[in-house]
Amino acid sequence: MRTSFSLLLAAGLLLTASPGQAQARKKAKAPAAAPAAAPAVAAVPVSDSVALRRIFDEALLRGESYDNLRYLTSNIGGRLSGSPQAQMAVEWGKATMEKAGFDRVYLQEVMVPHWVRGGREKGEIVGNKDKGIKVPVCALGGSVSTGGKLKAGVVEVHSFDELKNLPDDAVKGKFVFFNRPFNDALIEPGAAYGGAVEQRALGAAEAAKRGAVGALVRSMSSARDDNPHTGTMRPATIPGAAISTNGADKLSQLLKANPELQFELEMECITLPDEKSYNVVGEIKGSKFPQEIITVGGHLDSWDLAQGAHDDGTGCVQSIEALRLLRAAGFKPERTIRAVLFMNEENGARGGTEYARLAAQSKETHVAAIESDGGGFTPRGFGLESDAATLAKVARWAPLFKPYNADEITAGHGGTDIEPLKDAVHPKALIGYKCDSQRYFDIHHTAADTFDKVNRRELELGGASMASLIYLLSKYGL
Ligand SMILES: [Zn+2]
Repeated sequence: MRTSFSLLLAAGLLLTASPGQAQARKKAKAPAAAPAAAPAVAAVPVSDSVALRRIFDEALLRGESYDNLRYLTSNIGGRLSGSPQAQMAVEWGKATMEKAGFDRVYLQEVMVPHWVRGGREKGEIVGNKDKGIKVPVCALGGSVSTGGKLKAGVVEVHSFDELKNLPDDAVKGKFVFFNRPFNDALIEPGAAYGGAVEQRALGAAEAAKRGAVGALVRSMSSARDDNPHTGTMRPATIPGAAISTNGADKLSQLLKANPELQFELEMECITLPDEKSYNVVGEIKGSKFPQEIITVGGHLDSWDLAQGAHDDGTGCVQSIEALRLLRAAGFKPERTIRAVLFMNEENGARGGTEYARLAAQSKETHVAAIESDGGGFTPRGFGLESDAATLAKVARWAPLFKPYNADEITAGHGGTDIEPLKDAVHPKALIGYKCDSQRYFDIHHTAADTFDKVNRRELELGGASMASLIYLLSKYGL
């Protein structure tokens, strides 16, 4: 009888036992040799919907993402690649994963760029008889310094075509002011960002080709405020600065009244030699298919202006939490799950590139890779870079996510750090965590990306959504 009791347990039938079976069970329980301790919850297979409920319960009642994020953002803060804070973040990530008790925690060495903003950043509209008007500016990542105060006229453009069509004497010796705003009619802020960000990335390089002395770039945001938004730019011989949206509107307005006005820019940034840094990796070994890997990650580096809370502290703590939640909810994943804190997404993507190189070198099989790098806001679902059959397979799980309002499973972008895996080891899917991103670009790459902008429940719900998808990927594969 004990044997049949064990079988019933293994098959999960005790949960739905009829009165007769329950009686048999009572008899079966009689022998004194019955194990004293109750079996762990996961010994009984549960339906997928019950499994997801357990994961969400664990996250909402005992989630650790928020406290981890508080530590990372408040005690370490901004952590640009190559900085002492980035190294502190590496040590924090490793210690946090070790404390979580993963099977294996290790570092992957990678050389990263080391750009330093320096002390002084000043922008001023001058040239009128009136006093100069100060506007908020910040250096774009990778910019050269102005070498003291740099004063010149300004020409405003809205596209590279417009710049190309200007006569040489309209550009030479001036600042080119790239002032194309976000297209606010677009529903997805990420699409508006995609439509404007070439100005930041390539503006200075394009302006330099035409003999300009500097580039001023409207901040990448729909918000109208005084926060300049930094971000990476292609190396150029002339400085590139972001100007706040309010500052850009002011400059544009004054230029219309006085095309001869001048701008004075001062920045002290410098590029130092590359620094040694690391990706941080934590792993739970698969119980049935250990050679099949599912990666989940965010990027550990951030811009230096703030604490890097939504970008991308949230993605890091959610990735660690996803593994912890599976364990804490009583599940032993069939496939190997890896949390990766990638280094240097913001200005080089060297960590993601190195992770993929090592995966290819070790001939690893990656089933899927998930990245959370769109903020720690309320979950909506997942965007997949995959073939149609794989998307259809994952989309069939959407009803399981419906109770958590995270059931949008569509084609989409995976993430910058996991992108190199596509060519290196060909995972079936690159998966981007999708959340409500309407507020993301208000604070993205600014001094306002701080811990207080993150809501605990939204953050924990996101980690639970990611853990749930990993649970299904691990159980069924792709
Ligand atoms: Zn990011």
